[in-house]
Amino acid sequence: VEEALRQSQKMEAVGQLTGGIAHDFNNMLAVIVGSLDLLNRRLGDEDARAKRYVDAALEGAGRAATLTQRLLAFSRQQPLNPEVLDANKLVPGMSELLIHSLGTDVRLETVLAAGLWRTHADRNQLENVVLNLAVNARDAMPEGGRLTIETQNVHFDDRYAAAHLGVPPGHYVLIAISDTGCGMPPEIIAKAFDPFFTTKQVGKGTGLGLSQVYGFVKQSGGHVKIYSELGQGTTVKIYLPRFIGDEIEAEQLSIGDLPLGE
Ligand code: ADP
Repeated sequence: VEEALRQSQKMEAVGQLTGGIAHDFNNMLAVIVGSLDLLNRRLGDEDARAKRYVDAALEGAGRAATLTQRLLAFSRQQPLNPEVLDANKLVPGMSELLIHSLGTDVRLETVLAAGLWRTHADRNQLENVVLNLAVNARDAMPEGGRLTIETQNVHFDDRYAAAHLGVPPGHYVLIAISDTGCGMPPEIIAKAFDPFFTTKQVGKGTGLGLSQVYGFVKQSGGHVKIYSELGQGTTVKIYLPRFIGDEIEAEQLSIGDLPLGE
């Protein structure tokens, strides 16, 4: 519990720092992109070479913008647009994108729970998060393997949740993403959510994928846990809060189900 507390305090501090930097960077990038756009229009079609330089600069600025977006997501300073979501629809809706991203050697399997509760979250961000996790899973399986995405209703009562998981009691929609890859040792798991922590080659990893996952899940009122076994594989579990309207609907249903005349 102490370790969990220390971890969350660290994430708070790093989040504030990176959030401030990312915010300023975003503003500077807006100036750069805006000026380049104007220059591009001025150039017209005559100067093809100059246009190529401007395009290259715009592309670089676009990559930088993606990075700052991920940092803002980590520091929970990204505006979210939550809506009522059914993960059992969102996940299959991504299958084409996922299969494409996984390549030919990784099989995709989905296990969707019947009667899954709905959750309340930003659709684009959740799709980004699932994609980040799928790409990490693929990178962990260079020889191929299986990626499993599973949904489940989870109700934690007080004792179990507090003692075993550090997830507050409540009703959650669980999205679990598992791979059969290389796994992570405990010392890597401990750092995995840190922004810029990566074990990948320069140019291959930014160390921002899991930071973005962490920030999004926290901002959505959820929790994220990593379970991993070296040489066996990794499961990342995302617990998103159950959409409370479901409870109201269920209550109305049970009242309506009462026998008449009682
Ligand atoms: P990046 O993917 O750019 O390195 P992430 O924040 O997504 O950044 O991941 C941080 C590190 O955590 C990775 O470099 C890798 O060492 C480890 N990691 C993440 N996901 C997995 C996974 N599914 N299996 C094994 N290691 C992983």
